Amino acid sequence: MLENLLRQEIHEKGPLSQYQFMEVALQHPEFGYYRSQEAISRDFTTSPEISQVFGELLGAWAIDYFLKLNQPKNLSLIELGPGKGTLLTDFLRIVSQISMPFLEALDITLVEINPLLKTIQQNTIPCPIKWVEHVEHIPLSDAPLMILANEFFDVLPTHCYIRKENKLYERCLILKEDKLTFAPLFLQENQGPDQTWEESPKAESLIHTLCDRLLMQSGVFLCIDYGYEKGAGDSLQALFKGEPSDPLSHIGKSDLTCHVHFGRFKDIALSKGLGVLGPLPQGQFLKNIGLETRIERLKHKNPLQRAPLEVASRRLSDPRHMGALFKVMAIFSSLTLIPAGFES
Ligand code: SAH
Repeated sequence: MLENLLRQEIHEKGPLSQYQFMEVALQHPEFGYYRSQEAISRDFTTSPEISQVFGELLGAWAIDYFLKLNQPKNLSLIELGPGKGTLLTDFLRIVSQISMPFLEALDITLVEINPLLKTIQQNTIPCPIKWVEHVEHIPLSDAPLMILANEFFDVLPTHCYIRKENKLYERCLILKEDKLTFAPLFLQENQGPDQTWEESPKAESLIHTLCDRLLMQSGVFLCIDYGYEKGAGDSLQALFKGEPSDPLSHIGKSDLTCHVHFGRFKDIALSKGLGVLGPLPQGQFLKNIGLETRIERLKHKNPLQRAPLEVASRRLSDPRHMGALFKVMAIFSSLTLIPAGFES
C-alpha cells in the first residue's frame, strides 16, 4: 500500500528525501508503522519490556528529584511515546509504595499517535491520564515538569547528507528500472572533508519546544535512546520481526530508526541556559541509580527468578547489549537541583 503511494509520489514529483520516506513509512495517518502496528515486542524489545527494574529505577530516580524540588503540590509528568505503558506502570508502582505525596501531586500526560497503543496504555497504567498527539499540545500549567522519553527520538525522520569531493548530495528515494532504490541526489557545491551525516529538524524542533517549556515551568527532562554525542555516518536501520531488514522491504510494516544526535540536543539546551548532564551510557546510569541493589532484592524475594533477573540485568547494562550504545541525558532548569545518576 505505502509502496504504491511512494511510487506514485516519485512519478509525479521526483525523488523523495530519506526524511520524506521515513515520515510516510512511520507516520502516514492510515498505514504508517507507528499509526497502525502494535509492534513492540514483535519487531523490537525496549528496556521497560526487558524488565520491571527499568521503570522501577526511574520511579526511584524521579522521587529523588521530587524531593529536591521540595515536594511541590502539583507536578506534570509527561511521557513521550510510552509504547505499552510498561515503564510508567513500573514507575508508578514504586512511587505508590514510597511516596504518596508524589503520587498525589502527579498530573500525567502521554504524547502518543498510535490508537492501538493508547488503548493498551489506558488498560495498563493505573492512574488517570490525558493524551496529546503533539508535544506542542502538552497542557500549560504552573506545575514543574518531569518529562520522560525512552526510545522516542530514534523514530523521528532524518535527512542523510553526503559530501564528496566538495559536492553535497542528499540520500533520496528514486525509481531505478521501476524499483525503489536509495541514491545520492546532487544538491550544490560544498567545501569540506568527505563525510556522511544525518540531521533531524523534527527532533531538534521538539527539543527547542521542550526546553522552552522547562524554562517556563521548571523541571527536568530525561532522554534515553540509542545514539551518539559527536560523530557522523548513516545509521538508518530497519527491524522486522526482531531481525534486521532492508528499510525498503516491508514499508509500513518494519520499524525504522536512526541514531539520536545527543550532541545537538545538548547544544540547544545549553544555548538556552539550561543544565545538561550526560549523555552517559545506559549501563553506567542504571548502576548509579541502584540497578544491582534492586536486582539483588528481587532475587532474594523471588529465588526462582534468579536466572532471568540476571539475564535482564545484563541485557540492560552490559556494553555488549544495551549498556553502551544506549545513552541517558538529563536537561534541567534549575542549575542547583542536580538530577541523580550522572556521576561517572
Ligand atoms: N517508550 C516505549 C516505546 C518506544 S517505541 C518503550 O520504551 O517501550 C516509540 C513510541 O513512540 C511508540 O509508543 C510510538 O507509537 C510512539 N511514537 C512514534 N512516533 C511518534 C510521534 N511522531 N509522536 C508521538 N508518538 C510517537
